[in-house]
Amino acid sequence: MFQPFVFMRADEKEYILEQRQDGRGKGSAAKKGAEHFSPQFLGNAKNDGRGAQTDVRDAQTEIRSDGRGSRQETRAAQRGAHAAAGAQARRNAQEEKKRAAKAEKAELPKKEPQDKKRDFSKKGKKSRNPVKIIFLGGVGEIGKNMTAIEYGNDIIVIDAGLTFPDEELPGIDLVIPDISYLVQNKNKVRGVLITHGHEDHVGGIAYLLKEVQAPVYGTKLTLALADNKLREQRINKAHLVCVKPGDKIKLGCFGIEFVNVNHSIAGAVALCIDTPNGRIFHSGDFKIDLTPVAGRQIDLSRIAEIGREGVKLLLCESTNVERPGYTMSETVVGTTLDHLFSENSNRRIIVATFASNVHRLQQIVDLAVKYRRKVALSGRSMLNVVDAASKIGELSIPEGVLIDVEKAKNFFDREIVIVSTGSQGEPMSALTRMAAGEFNKVTIGENDTIIISASPIPGNEKMIYRVINNLYRKGANVVYESLEKIHVSGHACQEELKILHSLLKPEFFIPVHGEYRHLKRHALLAAELGMSENNILLPDIGNCVELSKQGMQFGESVSSGSRLVDGANLEDRENSVVMKDRKHLSEDGIFVITACVSERSGDLLSDPTVVNRGFVMPENADYVGEIRRIVVNCADQTDVRADVNNTELAACIKKSVKNFIYKKTKQNPVVMALITRV
Ligand SMILES: [Zn+2]
Ligand SMILES: [Zn+2]
Repeated sequence: MFQPFVFMRADEKEYILEQRQDGRGKGSAAKKGAEHFSPQFLGNAKNDGRGAQTDVRDAQTEIRSDGRGSRQETRAAQRGAHAAAGAQARRNAQEEKKRAAKAEKAELPKKEPQDKKRDFSKKGKKSRNPVKIIFLGGVGEIGKNMTAIEYGNDIIVIDAGLTFPDEELPGIDLVIPDISYLVQNKNKVRGVLITHGHEDHVGGIAYLLKEVQAPVYGTKLTLALADNKLREQRINKAHLVCVKPGDKIKLGCFGIEFVNVNHSIAGAVALCIDTPNGRIFHSGDFKIDLTPVAGRQIDLSRIAEIGREGVKLLLCESTNVERPGYTMSETVVGTTLDHLFSENSNRRIIVATFASNVHRLQQIVDLAVKYRRKVALSGRSMLNVVDAASKIGELSIPEGVLIDVEKAKNFFDREIVIVSTGSQGEPMSALTRMAAGEFNKVTIGENDTIIISASPIPGNEKMIYRVINNLYRKGANVVYESLEKIHVSGHACQEELKILHSLLKPEFFIPVHGEYRHLKRHALLAAELGMSENNILLPDIGNCVELSKQGMQFGESVSSGSRLVDGANLEDRENSVVMKDRKHLSEDGIFVITACVSERSGDLLSDPTVVNRGFVMPENADYVGEIRRIVVNCADQTDVRADVNNTELAACIKKSVKNFIYKKTKQNPVVMALITRV
């Protein structure tokens, strides 16, 4: 029996009630619930009998005690309210099921097509009820993963990621997927499944839940990190349901099983999704680690079993598809770190790594204990993750080991390990500031060994090497990936991908999580393993793939794209005026001209002022006098008294000044005219 623990806030009951009272029809939440745990489904569900009940924080913990009803129902019954609604909902659910069965019968083709594959390639001939796989992010790019799977009135969402902006997006904090399709269909969304807690999978969860209210399913650490995101955005009504590998849930017409995989964060799962048109397996991010530091190995035996039961479609990540061989085990890093700790026994050690790699942190803590060092954490995300992971028991730090980074000075160098963020050379991170001498809590010197236990994410190389150069300048010793085995990837290389494909033996394949070249290489890998090219599709953001019982083809695309987050505001990437302005300003500078006109006479009342910023002024040139004359001319040409909003005068000044500057300098700065009337 599926026994999730549910952690929620005290006000979460309100949310449940809201769900019941929304416009989705009588007792819709309860109805869904009844379907969640239908007896057939529970029949093959695993029960480990433990009913995990660790709570991430001091919120209520609730264990479902009733195998039949939904958790919502149980709670409703406990409150003695909505009982009738529940019964009605069960009746509704039964009717619904009958209807669904009928619909499915009707949909069965009278005759099986002669050649399934040819049928599949025929575009335009649609199955009456296809399962739609809608790609909202994470294809054709690395980051902001989000995929929706839809059938009839049900949608499930896999991951809600974000990506960090590149240099083309000055001043932008984050980039998230355009979710307008989900907002339009929000009444259909039955749940959000998060495969693991990395930013590119969970970072956008708050933005999704602001507009689409649905329960979120994930493992312990994933939800703890999701919860941090929700708190930052002050979302108090989220409904988070914790699952364990092996658990099975039902969301609408979909049955979902969570399958344990290895990755560079604890609690990563793949998803085995039963749909009315066959089984879809989504790998999430994974690697095959047969000697993981903590937790279990990837569940290869279950994956093989799933393959034997039959997989219609595989969606598999492609991050490392260009790399031959296997990704090394996380344990290898521990061995290297151990050598480094013993070689540097008289020096202070600073390790920079990804905060989310809890197993890496555990290895560092274990070595600190072994070599009798204290651990000081530095960087906000490091403190957040360590806090979240320790509370749920994913990270164990013996008492007295952790000290405040400010107290590190009170110890000898040989007694300290500082664990820091900034392994990507991020400008504001602790390590970058240490390297630049701007971090007053830690001063880098000749007795420091800095271990950068991460590899550069493509695009970050320059920033990291700048940090390494600065650390060397301060006399420190730096150990980074190209020198030692101090980092392993969390993603499967070619041979591991081949193992997954071979165990699952899917009929159809769509590579995901990668730029186009990764997807293409992954398609070639599948073809190498014997899959017909006709059975592989390469998706782009916004594409909808329709999976019918006969085959798979592209359907109608949905609205999609990127949304830019700047502070609390959102902006569309495709037609962002703000971005155009920022780029324009950063490249050509700005002229601001202010003038004051008399409302009565229409005359200029004083000399206009001219200010410029970021503009390369030719030597000895003084354009101010010239520009003032232009403003006077414009005021003469315009009927200022009639131009009540100053639009005509402002446009005239802008155009004339732009022309003048371009003629003189061949530069094209932004020109602004501010006019006041008195
Ligand atoms: Zn990941
Ligand atoms: Zn990822």
